[in-house]
Amino acid sequence: MKSIQLNGVAYQWPQRPVVVVCIDGGDPAYIEQGLRDGILPNIARFVRDGFYAVADGTVPSFTCPNNMSIVTGAPPAVHGISGNFYLDAATGEAVVMTGPELLRSQTILAAFADAGAKVGSITAKDKLRRQLGKGLDLARGNVSFSSEHANRCTLAENGIENVLELVGMPLPDMYSMELSLFVLAAGVRLLERERPHLMYLSLTDYIQHKHAPGDDVANEFYLRIDEKFGQMAELGAVVALTADHGMSDKSTADGRPNVVFLQDILDREFGAGDTRVICPITDAFVRHHGALGGFVRVWCVGGRASPQAIIELVRRIPGIAEALDRESVCARYQLPPDREGDVAVLAEANAVVGAAEADHDLSGLRDARLRSHGGATEARVPVILSHRLDPAWQRRAESGVLRSHQVFELAINGTRGAA
Ligand SMILES: [Zn+2]
Repeated sequence: MKSIQLNGVAYQWPQRPVVVVCIDGGDPAYIEQGLRDGILPNIARFVRDGFYAVADGTVPSFTCPNNMSIVTGAPPAVHGISGNFYLDAATGEAVVMTGPELLRSQTILAAFADAGAKVGSITAKDKLRRQLGKGLDLARGNVSFSSEHANRCTLAENGIENVLELVGMPLPDMYSMELSLFVLAAGVRLLERERPHLMYLSLTDYIQHKHAPGDDVANEFYLRIDEKFGQMAELGAVVALTADHGMSDKSTADGRPNVVFLQDILDREFGAGDTRVICPITDAFVRHHGALGGFVRVWCVGGRASPQAIIELVRRIPGIAEALDRESVCARYQLPPDREGDVAVLAEANAVVGAAEADHDLSGLRDARLRSHGGATEARVPVILSHRLDPAWQRRAESGVLRSHQVFELAINGTRGAA
């Protein structure tokens, strides 16, 4: 039987379709609330008959680093993606890290495709599609597309066309739960039609940014995704659920965002232009979070501030959990040093760190309390399997620290004995 080697892991050939779903922003609190409220019959069955644990995700707890950890089975020190942006110290330019050229590892999907497996990658936001589809041969029935651009799919670019007809849903709005539901509906249809060996389905966290666990909209969303997970299991797939990161309430008692505007503090202390704060959560979707997250990087560019002086200043600020120099943060969280700042700053669960107040557009946040992610407190994520783990794997999962980037390994190698 063939096996696939990637980043030190030997993946066996899947015995039946394996579907890994990344519930973007899927904090364990949503699952636990939904199970208490009795609205997740399929997940409840997976938890009872399969496997459930809360695992460690990648820090910073952002979307791209965690998606890349999941699809490469490795931490950012290996795959290179540690945020949406980093500062190129040589040019002073902020470099976008969401393209496939900066991804340093092959993906599990591409490795299986090269060995002759049929694979699919479907994501909500198109910004993730090219990175997830890196190196994926789209000629032999493999597919890679986003629900955002589902109306533009071509055989050459995506390995599939007429996706709206296939799924039977209109093109979803960028700020809707349908953007994620479309991904899952497409996954169900592909499973019926193609029975791929492996699928990766990555959702969007718009609902979790705007709605706390137990809220009517959050519950409706979870009820509807649960239904899709049930359909996938019914079609004979091993269904594995995880998340890229959790989600924390980051507002003060009066409802305003609880923000440390770090660039303003550093400018007052060291002078304007001496340091550069980069918020690696920044993307085009400011209505989700106003580019405010729980992890920022500081580069010393002017020569006045030293990393140690910044650390001593920042550690005393309320809302800051820790400030670490490059070497320490890379060692603790397995990050690539060449894309790390001189100082990494992590927020407490109830706070976010920004750059300068003038850099953040908070107008999209007025409709709800700020909920966001990025720090270590949002790096605890669920890992749920529809099938029981083999005893050796169950012991392994219980004894060591379980990492969410092991989810493909667990689903492919760990469930072979399950009926
Ligand atoms: Zn995310």
